Amino acid sequence: MTVVLFDMDGVILEGLRTDPQVYADAADAALAELDADPTPPQRRDFRNHDEERIRTHCTELGIDPSQFWERKEAYASSGTHDRLRSGERDPYDDIDAIRDLGDRTAIGLVTNNRHETAEFVADYFGFDFDVVRGRDPTFDGYDRRKPDPYYIEDALADLGVTDGLYVGDSVTDVTAGHAAGLETAFLRRPHNRDRERPPNATHELESLTELPSIVEPSDSS
Ligand SMILES: [Mg+2]
Repeated sequence: MTVVLFDMDGVILEGLRTDPQVYADAADAALAELDADPTPPQRRDFRNHDEERIRTHCTELGIDPSQFWERKEAYASSGTHDRLRSGERDPYDDIDAIRDLGDRTAIGLVTNNRHETAEFVADYFGFDFDVVRGRDPTFDGYDRRKPDPYYIEDALADLGVTDGLYVGDSVTDVTAGHAAGLETAFLRRPHNRDRERPPNATHELESLTELPSIVEPSDSS
């Protein structure tokens, strides 16, 4: 296997995604920083991710949409990092398997989550990833999330390879990995236990500890 790329939320970090409260707090902090005073319905939209609504409200309030978005993403990252440091959100207990695999083959992290958080997680949990790619803090960056293979392809280009394996816990991971020309592994976690295996998933894993069974050793000795 040339490279094994991992999804982050639901693979390394417990749970499906960032808690909505993190984005609510981040939106409020960004609005305060920009001296904006939205109505309650506007604030509700700012806490979510609908680009059109956010652009409209930014125009109504006289603030720059791109700047608001970038600040909200930055606050969401620091809020997430606080939760990881305090143990409010934990990693899964089988992530040592990723570190072990890194001794034998190239590994990478490719997530829909924010790039800043991907970098934090790689560093905080001591992974030696060869490439880390999360979403850019822009509207376009948000649109390029999986199932779009954009960030996976970007990571492969960064490594100068075209084949490998993508490990994820959702259907969109399998779709994106497949679209990028990779083998895919659908990882079972408590939140997707009853989901049907995506039909085009190459492999299915009950735990990251099963990785060696599908990843051939890269040394030819
Ligand atoms: Mg996931």
